[in-house]
Amino acid sequence: MPEGDALHRAARRLQPLVGEVVEVETPNPRAQVGRLAERLDGRRLLSVEAVGKNLLLTFEGGYVLRSHLRMNGRWTLAQRGAELRGRPWLVVRGSRFEGRQWNGPVLELRTRALRRLGPDILAAEPDFKQMVANLRAADRDRAIGDAILDQRAAAGIGNKWKAEALWEAEVSPWRPVGETTDRELEVVLEAAAREMRGSLEGGRHVNRVYRLAGRPCSRCGTVIRSRGQGDANRIAYWCPGCQK
Ligand SMILES: [Zn+2]
Repeated sequence: MPEGDALHRAARRLQPLVGEVVEVETPNPRAQVGRLAERLDGRRLLSVEAVGKNLLLTFEGGYVLRSHLRMNGRWTLAQRGAELRGRPWLVVRGSRFEGRQWNGPVLELRTRALRRLGPDILAAEPDFKQMVANLRAADRDRAIGDAILDQRAAAGIGNKWKAEALWEAEVSPWRPVGETTDRELEVVLEAAAREMRGSLEGGRHVNRVYRLAGRPCSRCGTVIRSRGQGDANRIAYWCPGCQK
C-alpha cells in the first residue's frame, strides 16, 4: 500500500518535469475515458506535489490531475523515449525525461485544487493544532484508530503508521476520540509525523505492532492483537497491555 511517504518519493522523482511544456499520452485504454491526453497535452506542468495520499500534478490553465495509487499504482521516471514494457495509464513527456503512471487506479482531472483534505502530516511543519481541531469536530464516539485515517482530519497517515504511532503514544486504537485529551492526540500525530518523516528520509523503521499480532510487545510483553476497524475494516494492531 503506497503510504504518504511513498507519494512524497514519487513527487520528488517527477520534479525534473516541472516547468516544462509536456506531451501527454494515455497508452492504456482504461485511462482514456477521462480524455486526459486531449486536455493536458501541450500544457506546461507547474508543480507536482504529494498531498496526503494523493499526487497532484498542476498544469497551466488551472488543471489539477489527482493520482491516487491505492494498492498497486506507481509512478516511474525514464529517459524520454526509453523503451516501454507494458502500457502505462499515463505518460507525461518532457524534453529529457518522461513520467509514467502504472496501474492507475485513480486519475482524475479537476479544475481546482483539493480543499477537503486535512493538513499534510508530512509538511515541513505539520499543523498539529488544526489536525486536533479536525478530529475534535468529528464524531466523539468514533475510535481514534479509525478517526486518524480520515484524510479530512489529517492527510497522509496510512494503516501502518497509524498502528505504530498509537503504540508509540500508548493509546489504544479503540479509544473514543471524546475520551482522548488534546495532548494525547498531539502525541499520536507527532509520532506519526516523526516516523513517516524518518522513513521518507531513508531511515530504517522496526515495527512495534504492525503485522506482529501474536507476538509479545517489546515494551511490556503482552501479546499483540489485531482486528478489523472502521467502515473500511482495515486491520488495527495494538498491545492491550500498554495501549490504554
Ligand atoms: Zn505493550
